[in-house]
Amino acid sequence: MRNAFTARRAVLPWRNKRALPEPEAAGLRERLHRELCSPGGRLAYIHVPFCANHCLFCGFYRYAHTADAATRYASLLAEELALGGKAASVASGGVEALYLGGGTPSALSARDLDRVLSAARSHLPLTADCEITLEGRITHFNDEKIDACLAAGVNRISIGVQSFDTGVRRRQGRKSDRNEVLRFLEGLRKREGFALVIDLLYGLPGQTPEIWRQDLAAAIELEPDGIDLYGLNLIPGTPLHKAVGLGKFPALGGLDSLGEMYEIGARALAGAGWAQLSNSHWRRTLLERNRYNLQIKQGRDCMAFGAGGGGSAALYSYAVNSDLEAYERAVTMGERPIAGVWVADELHPIRCAVTAGFEVGKLDLAALTACLDDDVGQSMFSLVRQWQSAGLLDLDDGIIRLTLAGRFWYSNLIFAFDALLSESLAARQSTERSSIVTQASNLQALRAELAKNPGGILEALAVQYGVSQQAVVDALPEEMRTCIAGSAFVDVMQDLAGWGKMTVIVHTPDVIMECHADVPMGKLGHGFYNLQGGDGPLSGHLRPERCGAIYFLRRPFMGKETLSVQFFNTDGDAMFKVYVGRDENRELKAGQIERFNELERKLTAQEAA
Ligand code: SF4
Repeated sequence: MRNAFTARRAVLPWRNKRALPEPEAAGLRERLHRELCSPGGRLAYIHVPFCANHCLFCGFYRYAHTADAATRYASLLAEELALGGKAASVASGGVEALYLGGGTPSALSARDLDRVLSAARSHLPLTADCEITLEGRITHFNDEKIDACLAAGVNRISIGVQSFDTGVRRRQGRKSDRNEVLRFLEGLRKREGFALVIDLLYGLPGQTPEIWRQDLAAAIELEPDGIDLYGLNLIPGTPLHKAVGLGKFPALGGLDSLGEMYEIGARALAGAGWAQLSNSHWRRTLLERNRYNLQIKQGRDCMAFGAGGGGSAALYSYAVNSDLEAYERAVTMGERPIAGVWVADELHPIRCAVTAGFEVGKLDLAALTACLDDDVGQSMFSLVRQWQSAGLLDLDDGIIRLTLAGRFWYSNLIFAFDALLSESLAARQSTERSSIVTQASNLQALRAELAKNPGGILEALAVQYGVSQQAVVDALPEEMRTCIAGSAFVDVMQDLAGWGKMTVIVHTPDVIMECHADVPMGKLGHGFYNLQGGDGPLSGHLRPERCGAIYFLRRPFMGKETLSVQFFNTDGDAMFKVYVGRDENRELKAGQIERFNELERKLTAQEAA
């Protein structure tokens, strides 16, 4: 518990992600949550960046609350929710948990809280049992505001108490004393229809183990539905960090005392019969679901709103502009105020499984390593055995169960697994780099072959020369091919829907499937482009975000000229191809040739613009 590692690692949401340069990020902004989204349910987060004052330990403080600024901000939020809702309505995975965090959402007036929550309910596809959490502070959170929140659907209120002790509170800049905190929470407890959650912080200056025990006892006695325990993280740049550096506060207790306090907290809650939902969350009643916090760790998509919020869609993460002026400018111009976009690596789903498993203290290591290369799996098992002998976990039949000490150090375990995964990825990429040299000479030979015989079978050439199918197409003589970005997928498919009967081909190593039919119209939903073929010969579900490139090809095949539109995924493999149809004389249909040329021209001009 006390000395397994020399420091506690923070699990930051943007770890293992690469910031995209602006031109690339700009092209993605409007597609987030519209085309780029994971199937299934999702989450939503609304950020309110105002606080009544700056608590010394806090790294999230951004703007001082003023009534005028907060009211203006609530209007902008309502507009932004309407903008984002347009995207959400296309891809219709329901929002299962909505979280209003900050900052201090409860600093907004009753009218503004109602406005923001009503906009969320009108514009986001909230599920019928959506968990709606509001983060609040005791100061200024009056009955009128609480009524407004509950009337607008809030069903979970999380109060950041941190400590009940007046001395500890005052030292951190909190104005209310122990009695005021207790009175407020007792009043809140008497109300019904929502889960009340109390957040406590351990390791604060002056918070001795005895005071911590009193904090826990007071929280348990209030009988909220949930209690969260967080260890103080001395964040560089915070007033507390500076004050400790200047010697204004006694040096904080080390990891020893933090570990001891976590143990005291976990044992107190277990002793009082509370169930542990994750390493830092406990519940007394089933009203507390903790859905948002658990699902965000699982890597669920999260739609983010409000200056300083952060969201995610499939492999992408993004930050809403935290600068209020820039945020306002974008929203009033009707643009999503997204400041930056990051992309995760291909191991993202595995990393999410690791984070989600360690978060709840249980991870199926056998199932996890079955998806990985043998050497990575072996390294993970050998690390786990070391942790087992250090008392951080039990391993039984391939399943990891964290001990209390393991739960305290869980972020370090995630960090270590992340590092192993990154090493394995780097090793694989270096092998791929050395094969690029071989590929370069293969490509030269392939180009020469296609210059002589451009009618070869593309799939067979890819295998023969050890390159992707897209690389084969790129090796065709230039006048035979036009490449368009995969982001035009929906536009191209919807245009093809008006061309008449064509030949659609899906070619995999095992089958060549052909269908002679009209390409049906389709629409986006659940992350797919869904063909609305009805009882017709062609229907199905296509994934637009997998499309990396679209080619317009003119080339001879079996002695005849062909025109085709070919779709390639981001790995360079063919998704499917659509060939211009032939008339009764086996000639290419004149009307479709025109449509082909026209669409090619239009998309080329759009890309050049
Ligand atoms: S702890 Fe909460 S109220 Fe205090 S500064 Fe941080 S975000 Fe604001």
